Amino acid sequence: MINDEAVDASDASTFERIDPLTGDVATIAPAGSVADMARAASAAAAAFPAWSETGPGERRSLLNAAANILSRRTPDFIVAMITETGATAQWAAINCALGVDILREAAAMTTQVNGEIVPSGIPGNLAMAFRQPAGVCVGIAPWNAPIILGTRAIAMPLACGNTVVLKASELCPQTHSLIGDVMREAGFPRGVVNVVSNAPKDAAAVVEALIAHPAVRRINFTGSTRVGRIIAESSARHLKRCLLELGGKAPFIVLADADIDEAVRAAAFGAFMNQGQICMSTERIILMDEIADEFVGKFKVKAATLVAGNPQDGNPPLGALINAEAARRVRALIDDAVQKGAELVCGGVAHGTLMDATVVDHVTPAMRIYREESFGPVAAIIRVGSTDEAVTVANDSEYGLSSAVFSRDINAALGVAKRLESGICHINEATVSDEPQMPFGGVKSSGYGRFGGKAAIEEFTELRWITLASGKRDYPI
Ligand code: NAD
Repeated sequence: MINDEAVDASDASTFERIDPLTGDVATIAPAGSVADMARAASAAAAAFPAWSETGPGERRSLLNAAANILSRRTPDFIVAMITETGATAQWAAINCALGVDILREAAAMTTQVNGEIVPSGIPGNLAMAFRQPAGVCVGIAPWNAPIILGTRAIAMPLACGNTVVLKASELCPQTHSLIGDVMREAGFPRGVVNVVSNAPKDAAAVVEALIAHPAVRRINFTGSTRVGRIIAESSARHLKRCLLELGGKAPFIVLADADIDEAVRAAAFGAFMNQGQICMSTERIILMDEIADEFVGKFKVKAATLVAGNPQDGNPPLGALINAEAARRVRALIDDAVQKGAELVCGGVAHGTLMDATVVDHVTPAMRIYREESFGPVAAIIRVGSTDEAVTVANDSEYGLSSAVFSRDINAALGVAKRLESGICHINEATVSDEPQMPFGGVKSSGYGRFGGKAAIEEFTELRWITLASGKRDYPI
């Protein structure tokens, strides 16, 4: 969608997205070229001067209108998400609801893009720190929570007065293009919101073209750490600021005095929702020895109920993995762990892209699953002898996005939370949690920058220094 029109790629080429469950063609989408990326960025650049001059009321009403339309069109999004990603209807509905909230929160933030008066030492001067829209913002969003992350990539940039280009994931181009439809129907002026898609083979070239385009001032990327590094390098070369929301390996620590039943419920949701394909997914459950057997016994019972099925038939708790390669990757991590002495507590078998909740106990640092992001329905259990050891194990990871600590002793839990190297930590709650007003983001290889609330204003505006002088300065020459 360029300049509010659904357009073909300039050479009319297309690519297919395959339904991960049936193997049928789910979507045929335009395979945008480097030239098409320039078209989209130029459309956004042309729309920028007028849009950046709009007041908060106009931006707020358009973002609220988009929220209402997204809410109304939830059934369309659910169909697209199920066929393109194999997600359950429940996860798709959660995506729509949070997407609506993200748009409403951004609408509310339009009046918060403010600045301050800074005391000047020069007599008669009034100095202001002034926030202005940055320019064209490129948002690159993945498939795993496509409506949440596609909406997040553009909502606050728009609220701050920027124009945007959303680059759809190759794995869910239809779902992401529906976000463009919502924004068009909401009535954003021509060129303010543009959505582009590309064939997987062209990813490197089109992403580089978007970053390099002279009008583009900001890039936000949600995806893997591997590609995040490429985006960071390219952005640095072009001296452009980027926000990176990357992979995770969230630890979930259960101290000896924790409410075990509640911890089991939170760990199961965090580890297995959307088949474990969430950046905040609970990947490592770190248990104090005293309660480990009790926890694992109860966790096994809960996990055994989380069976994967076809989201088109009924309402299974788990849907499909994104593709057969993902199933193979997860299976290889489990095999490696079991071969090195881990115990397979339940699950572990993949039927095509369907895999039930899987639990692996007695995981050690020698096993790949201890370190590598599985991005699948598998929870690794690591047993420890002390709180200090729990913290050491939790921090023994290149990642640092989300984490959780369970304990009835809130001071002890807070002490642990402060020592964890992660952007986010929840006490007595799942590692998977998101609200649009929160400062969402990671540390270490999970990236840098923050999306939610006020922190996002800082990301998507330029802070200018503007002086109003009155009287004559005494210049030295
Ligand atoms: P991915 O890194 O493979 O992302 C694919 C994106 O990168 C696509 O847009 C693609 O066009 C682009 N790309 C691919 N190769 C490229 C190249 N050589 N140069 C430039 N761009 C290129 O990620 P994915 O598999 O789609 O998503 C899963 C990952 O995303 C997981 O690691 C997950 O943890 C992470 N994630 C993070 C968050 C967060 O908020 N931190 C949220 C969701 C997912």
